[in-house]
Amino acid sequence: MEEIIPVCEPTLAGNEKKYADECITTNWISSQGRFIEEFERAFAQFCKVKHGVSCCNGTIALHLGLVALGINKGDEVILPTFTMAACVNAILYTGATPVFVDADKETWCIDAAKIEEKVTRKTKAIMPVHIYGHPCNMDTIMGIAKKHGLAVIEDGAEAHGAEHKGKKVGGIGHIGCFSFYANKIITTGEGGMVVTNSDELANKARSLKNLCFGKGDERFMHTGLGYNYRMTNIQAAIGLAQMEKANELVQARRRHAQSYTQLLKGVTGLTLPTEKQWAKNAYWMYGIVLGDEIRMSKQDFMKKMAEQGIETRPFFIPLHQQPYLKDGTLKNAPDCSGVYEAAEWLGKRGLYLPSSSSLKESQIKRVCDAVKGIVEETRQ
Ligand SMILES: *Cc1c(COP(=O)(O)O)cnc(C)c1O
Repeated sequence: MEEIIPVCEPTLAGNEKKYADECITTNWISSQGRFIEEFERAFAQFCKVKHGVSCCNGTIALHLGLVALGINKGDEVILPTFTMAACVNAILYTGATPVFVDADKETWCIDAAKIEEKVTRKTKAIMPVHIYGHPCNMDTIMGIAKKHGLAVIEDGAEAHGAEHKGKKVGGIGHIGCFSFYANKIITTGEGGMVVTNSDELANKARSLKNLCFGKGDERFMHTGLGYNYRMTNIQAAIGLAQMEKANELVQARRRHAQSYTQLLKGVTGLTLPTEKQWAKNAYWMYGIVLGDEIRMSKQDFMKKMAEQGIETRPFFIPLHQQPYLKDGTLKNAPDCSGVYEAAEWLGKRGLYLPSSSSLKESQIKRVCDAVKGIVEETRQ
């Protein structure tokens, strides 16, 4: 069989090894050391925001951001149902109640036009998630937030480097949260970051992620209920090396998406990712959605791709369809009733193709030939 094309793998060809080695040779392997601050500064600069607060992963970045914003039991937080469990879980950890909104059929992000009808007197925040690299409609979202006095916590885990009207995602809302998991555009293995332009929110997040220690002699007089959400210097070392080529990593993703779209746009029955004219899509993962005219289940389609040595992954299963949120064990469980047509369509018929930044043009060609071949087969 031909060489297997993985769905996503990290690009660690720069100074990652050298910097990680430095942590070991200097003994700075825990959460202090030069790389933490340097990585935070580099990533904040990349997002064009004032502050970056590193933490252990993206799920925790969301929790940290919500706690810093003061989200608590009894509050409601609006988020898309078409996203990853980390988003809803982070809200549940605070005791607040998540409230779902359907996806937009074109961008696959939260349908901004359906947010306002979900705002109640309990609503405290909106969590737009920039799905698969496409930015949400932030103008509408910020407008609703302003009108109702809500906080906006952006989840940019899939959209490092994406832009809305020339502004980097993460720096548009009050807080932006990122993940550096191994398949994300910029990685530290496991890792996360909260970014913000607010001195107050940055200070809060910084204190909360480190057990709310007191200052100076009062170190062990804790100022609140904190967490140990610290990133290690080794993770930050890898992160700093990644930042040295962050723009290239995003550019590679965009170039590959262009090639995919070029090769697949003539195939009837496939919905491809879009890039609204106000958006710069970071194309974390290149997704396709199978139309009804392709008479094959997504699972069978993926199996046929795998038989040709091509890895794919299914889209998220919408959160309102998750049994653990519906079985009655959670006190602050979201209302999972109702139909979310776009999200259900994406969950049922969407999958993504190999999307590593290190992908080669010849591999993209092979993937597209396989897709076309399988679609063709279903027509016979
Ligand atoms: C990856 C991801 C997260 C969670 O990040 P982890 O680092 O895996 O905890 C959160 N939100 C979205 C949209 C993600 O894709």
